[in-house]
Amino acid sequence: MERYDLIVIGAGITGLASAYHIKRENRDLRVGILDRAPTFAQGNTAKSDAAFRDTFTSELNFKLSSTSIGFYRYIQEELGYNLGMHFNGYMFLLDETALNSESVKHIQQRADTKILTGDEVASLGINVSQNGEVKKIMNLKDISGGLIGKNCGILEPDLVASYYASELQKMGAEFHYSTNLEKIRLEPVDRLDYPGEPFIWQNKMIGGLNTNRGDFVAYDYILATDVWATSLLDPIGIDSHIRPKKRQVFQVSSNEIKRMVTTSYDGKEGLFPFTILPGPMIDMRPDPRSQTFWVSYTDDIGRDFSLEDDPQPEMDFYERNLYPVLREYVPAFIDSKVTSSWAGYYSINTLDGTYYIFKELNLIVATGSSGSGIMKGDAAGRIVAALYSGKEKAVLYGGSTLDVSDLGIKNRKAPMENLII
Ligand SMILES: Cc1cc2nc3c(=O)[nH]c(=O)nc-3n(C[C@H](O)[C@H](O)[C@H](O)COP(=O)(O)OP(=O)(O)OC[C@H]3O[C@@H](n4cnc5c(N)ncnc54)[C@H](O)[C@@H]3O)c2cc1C
Repeated sequence: MERYDLIVIGAGITGLASAYHIKRENRDLRVGILDRAPTFAQGNTAKSDAAFRDTFTSELNFKLSSTSIGFYRYIQEELGYNLGMHFNGYMFLLDETALNSESVKHIQQRADTKILTGDEVASLGINVSQNGEVKKIMNLKDISGGLIGKNCGILEPDLVASYYASELQKMGAEFHYSTNLEKIRLEPVDRLDYPGEPFIWQNKMIGGLNTNRGDFVAYDYILATDVWATSLLDPIGIDSHIRPKKRQVFQVSSNEIKRMVTTSYDGKEGLFPFTILPGPMIDMRPDPRSQTFWVSYTDDIGRDFSLEDDPQPEMDFYERNLYPVLREYVPAFIDSKVTSSWAGYYSINTLDGTYYIFKELNLIVATGSSGSGIMKGDAAGRIVAALYSGKEKAVLYGGSTLDVSDLGIKNRKAPMENLII
């Protein structure tokens, strides 16, 4: 078996962006990319709402997302590679208290935002006042305004992944699809060939990968398998620090929704903003192709941490939990129907809700994107590349820098984000 310089496991947005930035800086490296799926971006990257925003309360999250958005924008607008990117805005609908909160003030200082008045929100087809009894039972809120992130919107994650994959191919990276990593082999650096190695007194390294297509060997490895990192790391005693949670998307259609989807807040994009309702924070993503809304909810307490091979959406969840709320806030949902649905997973960092990027031995682990891996994917890739090259600082798109250790385990500096969806 010929040895690679580097093997990246996982051809989702995190693995591809990481491999791309490493290969760009080190053209001569022999880089292999493995994925168990038959092509790239078939994991959670394919299941995503793929909305992006820079309206975060933490400076770190602002940096990760705004620089990634900047890079995607550059690819689409300067290089002419369509990523399906629309700057239709990302709107939090807020009651009086939330609108005047410190979190909103923080966001306004940093990001390019606009506040819509209650009347402007109503003109988009949203009920801003709620009925007393239903309001109380379902925890609904009266809407005083909308916080719009202007440098925000939606994109198509398979197109972003396709950009990285095609550039990697041009640079000579070798893709191995339908290749399932079964075991990460922990081995001694200096092998004695005694049974039971590695012993506690031997220096250790990741010596190779067992897959359904035989052994793969490299000097260094990057594990970018998202929620599937835990079961691969557990046997070798490395903690992934993440938990999986199922997330579902319901595509909903009606004549009124069709009309609403093409209404914009500023008359420019011809597309409704990605919108988060108040109370139960249900999100509505306009889909320009099908002229539907994709509806999702990030359920926390009550949603278990289990992980299945083929997660299924639960119609019951839509009908009993989401629809009753949607009907009250957005009359266009009355007489609507669910035309498609799917489910994936968030790889959740339960402490601060953003990526973990850390190195153990000759293995870098990049996981824990916590529902924002598309909008932060490029920055994550640059941080992985900096860690791979032994640099203390990563240079993000546009030139801002970040200490690589900020997203690590030992010297982590990632404040809790107040606005996680
Ligand atoms: C419903 C939903 C909505 C979301 N909405 C948004 C959003 O609006 N905005 C946003 O930024 N993010 C969103 N996300 C999160 C985003 O999709 C993820 O953060 C991102 O896709 C993670 O990318 P990844 O490359 O780390 O993981 P993945 O895309 O899951 O890639 C991991 C890869 O590893 C491969 N793999 C796993 N195990 C093995 C193995 N043993 N051997 C070989 N290969 C293996 C898989 O096949 C997969 O291709 C959403 C996620 C979901 C589920």
